[in-house]
Amino acid sequence: MSPITQNSFGPVGRCIYCGDTGGLRREHIMPYGLAGTMTLLDAVCKACEGATTSIDGYVLNNFLKNPRTIFNMPSRKGHPETLRVDTRTKKNIELPAKDCPSLMFLPVMNQPGLITGDGRGILRGMWMRAFNLDDGRLTELELKDFVSPTLDMHRFGQFVAKIAHAMSVATLGLDGFKPLLLELIRNKDVQPYDFVGGLPGPAPTTEKIHEATNRIIDVNGKIYVSAEIQLFSCFGAPRYQIVVGERLNAPPPEWLKTSWIAASAQPR
Ligand SMILES: [Zn+2]
Repeated sequence: MSPITQNSFGPVGRCIYCGDTGGLRREHIMPYGLAGTMTLLDAVCKACEGATTSIDGYVLNNFLKNPRTIFNMPSRKGHPETLRVDTRTKKNIELPAKDCPSLMFLPVMNQPGLITGDGRGILRGMWMRAFNLDDGRLTELELKDFVSPTLDMHRFGQFVAKIAHAMSVATLGLDGFKPLLLELIRNKDVQPYDFVGGLPGPAPTTEKIHEATNRIIDVNGKIYVSAEIQLFSCFGAPRYQIVVGERLNAPPPEWLKTSWIAASAQPR
């Protein structure tokens, strides 16, 4: 598939989350903090920007903070020189970022409930990659153990849904599909698993940091727009499948056949 190289889309002219038309700002499709460069112009109102910033903040500055720092991924505030290591017995030990024992893990999920229709547990396991944790490293640091960050699956589901929704607006336009993810993205109490899940089959390792694409899928005769997103595809991390919306009548644009590559910089 050929990559899309365009960097900005729109102007959309309405908030892609609530439809408001006042005070619109641009919205990153893949967050800037994950090296995303593509944006939708005039696409998010101030209130929704606040809500989505809080979702991004949890994932980028908490759950993925250490890997982002180690890879020197973009950061508006800059990265800290040191990172915190928590252990069960010692709290708040600070170590130089490049040496800090860290885990990056991402959930491996079953397909979205809307596709499988069987309501079984969505989480299949965890994909993991360790940094500075080779044999003897904890002993060397006189640490008996260390505590990884916790994963809030609900926040993570919102995070992936937000990327999928924004990408689909860029691909099809706001009127090209009937959105299914808005409640999830805007409302803390909606569970994500009907719409957010994993893509079956092995996850490839790619040259880019992330890969993402839209697809038209048929679920029992009903046509949906889906998104396939592989964050950290450069490490072969899990792929996600997100049911973004019901497809409206127009034929799919050529862009559906192309691959969205959200970031081209290589981690160091
Ligand atoms: Zn809004």
